[in-house]
Amino acid sequence: MAKVELKGIGKVYEGNVRAVDNANILVDDKEFVVFVGPSGCGKSTTLRMVAGLEDISEGELYIDGELMNDVPPKDRNIAMVFQNYALYPHMTVYDNMAFGLRIKKVDKAEIDRRVHEAARILDIEKFLDRKPKALSGGQRQRVAVGRAIVRNPKVFLFDEPLSNLDAKLRVQMRAELSDLHFRLNATMIYVTHDQVEAMTMANKIVVMKDGKVQQIGAPLELYNFPINKFVAGFIGSPPMNFLSVKVTESGGSILLEEGAFSIKPIPAHAAELKKYVGKEIFFGIRPEDLHYVPEGPKESSLKVKITVVEPLGADTTLWLTTGTQSLVARTEPQFTFKVNETIHFIPKLEKARYFSKETELSILPNAGA
Ligand code: ADP
Repeated sequence: MAKVELKGIGKVYEGNVRAVDNANILVDDKEFVVFVGPSGCGKSTTLRMVAGLEDISEGELYIDGELMNDVPPKDRNIAMVFQNYALYPHMTVYDNMAFGLRIKKVDKAEIDRRVHEAARILDIEKFLDRKPKALSGGQRQRVAVGRAIVRNPKVFLFDEPLSNLDAKLRVQMRAELSDLHFRLNATMIYVTHDQVEAMTMANKIVVMKDGKVQQIGAPLELYNFPINKFVAGFIGSPPMNFLSVKVTESGGSILLEEGAFSIKPIPAHAAELKKYVGKEIFFGIRPEDLHYVPEGPKESSLKVKITVVEPLGADTTLWLTTGTQSLVARTEPQFTFKVNETIHFIPKLEKARYFSKETELSILPNAGA
């Protein structure tokens, strides 16, 4: 069992800098939870408070029901892997992994067993006698993870462990870490600014902004039902489009007027949009939910002009303008597009999201599609 609970956790640094505000997060046993958000949102500070590397200014931290606020890091039964994994350059891989256990005076045979077991799990057995400089970036990263595994911790903490690796290696290590989580069956908390890492690895994502938790949920829950415009724009790539539209009512129907076109939302959404008649709101639609209609305008189709064409092979990204607003569409690769061409898209309106201009909160009730 290894459950981590943050109850009303806050951090105020010297000089009254508030880094984290009232974080309430439950990391369940064996869960892989990712804290994600832009640089400076407070995710590392939150992780470091769990690790005990930062004092907790407000709230309570529990690991398996035990209050941890004043427990020193070494007694919390956690292991942390950093971005800057700082292996000891003069030590072999074996010694790098054994070092922490030797300090703790663990029995020699037990150290040997644990180092070999970790090396086997990480497929680095053949490098045990090498020094770090004779390893690739990915192999070094595995040694850093190995140092955590040998400690047999209740909870693994990762602070942007992949950000020093090149793009291709990151993709590979991402899959390796997911596989490792599966095989170790351990509780893991992982911090990153990269929403793709969050989406691909997490059981549960915690999205943070300006020190505040915005939303907590499974990856597809956040993708499909973002609670506000920030989460909607942060999760998913290319990001969701937000078009400023005016809500009108005509003959009992709700319409969204862009200027260049008008959209008729599905009835379930129209019912929620009724109270915004006469107001401007954000119409949110993901690039992958815009369907190109070669035959021309249809009801609720978006009339747009192409500004940039990016063929990616598997699909084509189109940068578009309505005349006054920009948006992005992801289309199938078989069509040929030209810059300055005027074309039409039908939005998948059951997937559209709507956000208040004042609060930026979702206008649709979150559970309702
Ligand atoms: P993230 O990991 O999301 O990039 P951090 O948790 O590192 O963000 O930082 C959150 C905020 O706290 C930032 O505004 C940062 O400048 C501030 N901060 C971080 N560490 C300190 C510190 N030791 N003293 C004062 N402010 C800090």
